[in-house]
Amino acid sequence: MIKVAINGYGTIGKRVADAVAAQPDMEVVGVSKTKPSAEAYVARQRGYPLYIAEMSKRQAFEDAGLEIAGDVTDMIKHADVVVDATPGGIGEKNKKLYELYGVKAIWQGGEDHEVAGFSFCSSCNYSEAKNRQFVRVVSCNTTGLCRIIQAMDERFGVGRVRATMVRRGSDPGEIKKGPVDAIVLNPVKVPSHHGPDVQTVLPQIDITTMAMIVPTTFMHMHALQMDLKSDATKEEILAIIEKHPRMGLVRPGTGITSTAELREYAQDLGRPRADLYESAIFADSIGLVGRELFLFQAIHQEADVVVENVDAIRAMMNVVDEAAVSIEMTNRALGFTAI
Ligand code: NAD
Repeated sequence: MIKVAINGYGTIGKRVADAVAAQPDMEVVGVSKTKPSAEAYVARQRGYPLYIAEMSKRQAFEDAGLEIAGDVTDMIKHADVVVDATPGGIGEKNKKLYELYGVKAIWQGGEDHEVAGFSFCSSCNYSEAKNRQFVRVVSCNTTGLCRIIQAMDERFGVGRVRATMVRRGSDPGEIKKGPVDAIVLNPVKVPSHHGPDVQTVLPQIDITTMAMIVPTTFMHMHALQMDLKSDATKEEILAIIEKHPRMGLVRPGTGITSTAELREYAQDLGRPRADLYESAIFADSIGLVGRELFLFQAIHQEADVVVENVDAIRAMMNVVDEAAVSIEMTNRALGFTAI
């Protein structure tokens, strides 16, 4: 069993912990928090050993009735791989610790590419992650872009990509973030960081992105255009998406035209936390003008990177040779079937 520690048990960390615990070849050896919180109680309920970033906070945890197994350093000593899901910028500071203990580590998209020197997306560059000590799983938006661009590039060749991201203002539990009543250009300047971030995984792609944030908490929406290098039909594109293990079609028959209805659908399907690990591509939005492809895809920011972390662990430990096999194992363990 691969021993996995989760440093930073928040929005992403708690999902990665549950996804790891569900895998037949992995176990959670610990999760870490900075202060007592609802998530710390969830960790206890799940049976994950709870570690803390600073021992000076031990009393606060004990006062809350939360048993502490030790500090983050103790946790790392038990792990083959640490998934660092601390807030952006903090993960980089933890690098020295991972180097000191010679443990493998995975960072998230809030950190720069340079922290690991290698950025990962399961369906794009799984093999290149093999045996690495450090890997960064790209952000939720970049993951969504990489999946569809790589799939189209592999089949038709992709020239220019232009994408606009309409991003959620905050995650559902973040009561102090906004906007409440604004559409915020984020950033005002073009390009946004997403295009260059895609190029850390797919350097050959000519991509320019724009982004804004809006008052919603569930999912980002991408308006995507790409120039294909060879002729394609809508039926061929639908078939590629349908077969892809990390993309799903929002079918016209569902009547779904919004993220709100998608959340309802995910809940009704019985997805834990209403999580959509796959990119949700609106079948009716797929259109071709000559060789120019248009589509809308919704990306569940809290979920799509979770399954990528699981595959990254297998690649770094070099226990599963092929991306497709790891992806299938991860998906099956989480029990997700087509949306
Ligand atoms: P979060 O704030 O929800 O969770 C971070 C957790 O880390 C919190 O529980 C916090 O208590 C803990 N923490 C803070 N400092 C710590 C420290 N020094 N040691 C140990 N734990 C510490 O953050 P998040 O949204 O889960 O984001 C984590 C990373 O994932 C970031 O890089 C972010 O950019 C990336 N990411 C976030 C999303 C998203 O939509 N939330 C999507 C994709 C990637």
